[in-house]
Amino acid sequence: MSLPDISIVVPLYNEHEVFDKLVHRLQSTMDSCSHSVEVIMVDDGSKDQTALLIQGIASKDRRFKGVLLSRNFGHQIALSAGMAHAQCTKALMVIDGDLQDPPELMVPFFEKMLQGADVVYAVRKNRKEGAIMNSMYWLFYRMLSRLSEHPIPHDSGDFCMISKRVLDHMNDMPERSRFLRGIRSWVGFNQVPYEYDRDGRADGKTKYSMKGLFKLAYDGIFNFSNKPLKLITHIGLYTILVSVIYLTGVLIKKLLGYEVPSGFISLVAVITLFSGVQLISLGIIGEYLARIYLQVKNRPLFVVDKTVGMDD
Ligand code: UDP
Ligand code: MG
Repeated sequence: MSLPDISIVVPLYNEHEVFDKLVHRLQSTMDSCSHSVEVIMVDDGSKDQTALLIQGIASKDRRFKGVLLSRNFGHQIALSAGMAHAQCTKALMVIDGDLQDPPELMVPFFEKMLQGADVVYAVRKNRKEGAIMNSMYWLFYRMLSRLSEHPIPHDSGDFCMISKRVLDHMNDMPERSRFLRGIRSWVGFNQVPYEYDRDGRADGKTKYSMKGLFKLAYDGIFNFSNKPLKLITHIGLYTILVSVIYLTGVLIKKLLGYEVPSGFISLVAVITLFSGVQLISLGIIGEYLARIYLQVKNRPLFVVDKTVGMDD
């Protein structure tokens, strides 16, 4: 069988509610396109029928392939597994399974690739996630771009198309804790934004827990920036400076014969404040340490239970 021009990777975790709609939208996108396309559906250890549904569609439509992971590894790792199995010769597109990223954009994305782009990353013009989540996302992306030593575009998620060479570079990157939009931006080449309206989830509920979102945010910050470590040093230096100034003031007052108050409350306040600073500092160092530990263990990124519809 000849290799497809384009691969579409879709990670799926308990997505049986949207599955039929997803397949339908993907099929009509592929039917209307003159290029050969494969869809790699990654089952991220779903507890519902998602894995069975993937095997079902792969047996009916040869364009659909499945990578079934041995357990739930999380969205970023599921995407990495899909990317590792893609056989495309030209480009790979990444979409969410809940149809928040319209598969139809494959056509204009690929158009941009033909005009010389290596990465077309989708930028959300709007979000349909509610005011609190929207402002948290807004804050996160601004914080990330201030902290990161390498610019990561605002409001761009994983939804994108990448060229074969960018795919190869991303697959070769050995980091264990993956923040794919950061890795993608790090690779470089000609990266162009594409603005789109992000739809709401087509069906079912979000598969990201609050914990999962925080993990992603932490990965974004600690994998791409050493600035938090520098921040600790700065806080330490300023603290010393403030205390030296304060102590000098007290000493001068005493030498001039003024009565110096004992100040029990302020003492407790200062101690608790700086214990907090120290604990946060240890936490920040711990974040880096944990990442180093994860990396040196050198485990594989994921474990595949089985693949369906793949030649080899
Ligand atoms: N997903 C996954 N593994 C997980 C969590 C999510 O493969 O542990 C998939 C999920 O099925 C969906 C995509 O990742 O296709 C994005 O998840 P979701 O739509 O729930 O995230 P949100 O859009 O709410 O941030
Ligand atoms: Mg979603």
